[in-house]
Formats: sequence, C-alpha cells, structure tokens
Amino acid sequence: MISVEQHLDRILSTVKVIRPFEQGVLDAQGCVLAEDVTARGSLPGFTNSAMDGYAVHAADVASAAPDSPVVLPVVTDIAAGNTRPLSLAPGQTMRIMTGAPMPRGADAVVPVEATDGGIARVSITARSVVGQHVREEGEDVEAGRVVLRRGTLLGPGQIALLAAAGVARLRVVPRPRVVVLSTGDELVEVGRTPGFGQIVDSNSVMLSAAVTAVGATPYVVGGVPDDARVLMDTLEGQLVRADAVITTGGVSMGAFDTVKEVLSRVGTMQFDKVAMRPGMPQGFGVLGDEAVPVFTLPGNPVSALVSFHVFVAPALRQLAGRPEPAWPPGYLTAVATETFRSVPGKMEFLRVILDEDRARLAGGQGSHMLAALAAADALAVIPPEVTEVRPGEQVECLPLLGREAP
Ligand code: AMP
Ligand code: MG
Repeated sequence: MISVEQHLDRILSTVKVIRPFEQGVLDAQGCVLAEDVTARGSLPGFTNSAMDGYAVHAADVASAAPDSPVVLPVVTDIAAGNTRPLSLAPGQTMRIMTGAPMPRGADAVVPVEATDGGIARVSITARSVVGQHVREEGEDVEAGRVVLRRGTLLGPGQIALLAAAGVARLRVVPRPRVVVLSTGDELVEVGRTPGFGQIVDSNSVMLSAAVTAVGATPYVVGGVPDDARVLMDTLEGQLVRADAVITTGGVSMGAFDTVKEVLSRVGTMQFDKVAMRPGMPQGFGVLGDEAVPVFTLPGNPVSALVSFHVFVAPALRQLAGRPEPAWPPGYLTAVATETFRSVPGKMEFLRVILDEDRARLAGGQGSHMLAALAAADALAVIPPEVTEVRPGEQVECLPLLGREAP
C-alpha cells in the first residue's frame, strides 16, 4: 500500500507540460502563455475623448462658472469612428463623443453635463483644465512594451489586452486533450435503457464534465467490453490524439479486471493500492511513443470522481502549464456538525454538504452512491491517522468541481 502523496508525487514527477502551440486569441481562454508578448501598437492608439461633451482649448473656458457661462460656436460633431483628422481653432468648440479622436489644438473636453447641450453654439458653465477628460495616446500601453509575460494564465481580461494591442495569434500551452474510456461488459451508452444486469455508463459523461471543468478538452470513447484485445486496440487507436487518457473500471481484484491485466505488461504502467477511501486501486503510467500519461481509475463512480479530483485534476493542470496549489488541499476549512468516522490508515474522502462554514454528510457514503455524490459540495479530507472528527472540530474540504461558491 502506498500513500496518496506518494501516488500523486509519482504522477506529477512524470507529467510534462504540453508543447506550446500557436493559437488565435479567441481560443486562448484558460491557456497559459508560452512567450512574452509585446504590444504591436499603443493603447490608446490616438488621443481621444473620455466623455461625451465638447472639445475645447482649456484656456477659452478658464473662467466658466454657473453664473458666468462661456458661449462658444460649435463647428462640427466628432463621433467615435471618425477617421478624418480635424483641427480646432481657439474660440471654437466641437461636439465630441466618448472614444472619438481629439481634434488637433484641443486640450480638454467639457462634459455635456456642464453645458446646455447646444448644437450650433454651446453655453459652458464649468471651467476646464488642460488634459481634463482626455485619454492620451499610449497612456495605457506603449507600443513595443511587453504587455504579458510567459506563464500568465489567460482569462477574459488578458485576452482583451492582447486583442486591443494588435496580437491576434500567440503561443500558448494548448488545452490538454483527454480521452475518456470506460470499461465493463455491463455498460450501455447514455440515453439507452439498460437491460437486466446492465447499467448506464455514467462515468464517461461524469469524467467528460470533470475534464471540461478543469479547462481541458474531453474525447469520450464510451464503454468498451472487458476484452483484452478490444481494449488494447481501442487504446492504441486513441493514443494518437491524446495528451492524457483516463480509463475507469477493471483495476481491482475481480476475475474480469481487464485493464490491470492488459496494461500491467506495457509501457511504464504500475498498479498500486493507495491508502485512501474510496479509490484504493489505482494505476498510472505512460504509454506509446509520445509517452501519454494514462490514469486507470476504479469503476465505482464515486471512487472515479474522487480519484479525478485528487490525482487527475492536478496532473491536467500541470500538463496545461498551470501552477498547482500544494497538497494537502487547504482549499477551505469547515466545521463538522456531526461525527465523521474514518477507517484508520487511509485518507478518507467524505461527501459533505457545506452550509457556510459548516459541513455535514451528504448521505450514503458507499462508493457506488450517486445521490449523495450529487448532493455534495465538497470532499471532507480525513487524514489517515484520524479515525473520528467530532462535532465542532475543523475539517479540510476539497471543493467538488463545479460546486465551488460562485
Ligand atoms: P470495476 O472497477 O470494473 O470492478 O467496477 C466497479 C463498480 O463500478 C461496478 O459496480 C461497476 O458496474 C461500476 N462501474 C464500472 N464502470 C462504470 C461506468 N462506466 N459507469 C458507471 N458505473 C460503472
Ligand atoms: Mg468492471
């Protein structure tokens, strides 16, 4: 028997960051930048108005006040998108919209709220100073400057900056492509009605959802029978498009546990008993010319999902070049509202419902029990040496994917 930490260490010391790839900004969400990126142009690209109002020479309105307005002729309108260069003579004004280029000579914008909104002539009732409500060319970003560093995780804000700075394509670590394969003669595809002795292959859709939730791309193969030849052929066919493979089922002590039987002989696959509950039988190794990491998870749905959270999610984040928070996952601490029992010598992952900072059991803790899994918000992590958590004591919880507090 090995510890959870030992198994995770072996996985994380094996998994390498995926080779970077050039991608369009539109596809870069959630990816990690693989190069420093410099701005192609300045931001703003031209000096423009920060308000709807009137472009002026500030000196012309230096004395404007509610009881002594300054009246100026309005020579033209400048809308956002105006591409015609304009010049403003002293003693005149132009009506200007937010984002429209400032006319040459103008050095301030009087907001429309400080005027009578005139069209041919405008009465201005507040003074202005040079630069007021003007966005200077390059004040946000200077052309040629590094705007984002290699290693940055790209979200909507970073993507906006790249797009605005003229970067349409960039090198990122691609989203991991993850093949999800279930094994078992008893499985029928989702949407089919299982016959007697059969069950719906819920692991495929569960793990596909989990893969998506960590920002990777799932490829669902579906269920394959407990047949060595079929399993091997299917795996070989799938390896070419995979950055990782997840299988479920067939790794325990049963007579038809084909995954373990077949894969024990190939690649660097190693099958271990891990001191955890649920999820004790685990297999991991790399297969094929490209050394694709393969995770063979137990078949019971709760075991498979716990294994995903504990072993696969950190590995997928590492493949994607993301920094990984340290184990144990001190993500959130809750207070037990009832007694949690745990077997000695194993790390126990209990399905719990969180109510603010209080945790209670979500229901039946059997590794086949989907109702409690679906009710749960988190996994309470009970260390191997702890056999009982009493009401009022603190417990560390690993939030379940997709159930984090918004
Ligand atoms: P195994 O690990 O193959 O011995 O399977 C353990 C338990 O998990 C059995 O009750 C299986 O029927 C169930 N199981 C295996 N694969 C799946 C799957 N893809 N979806 C739902 N349950 C499964
Ligand atoms: Mg099976």
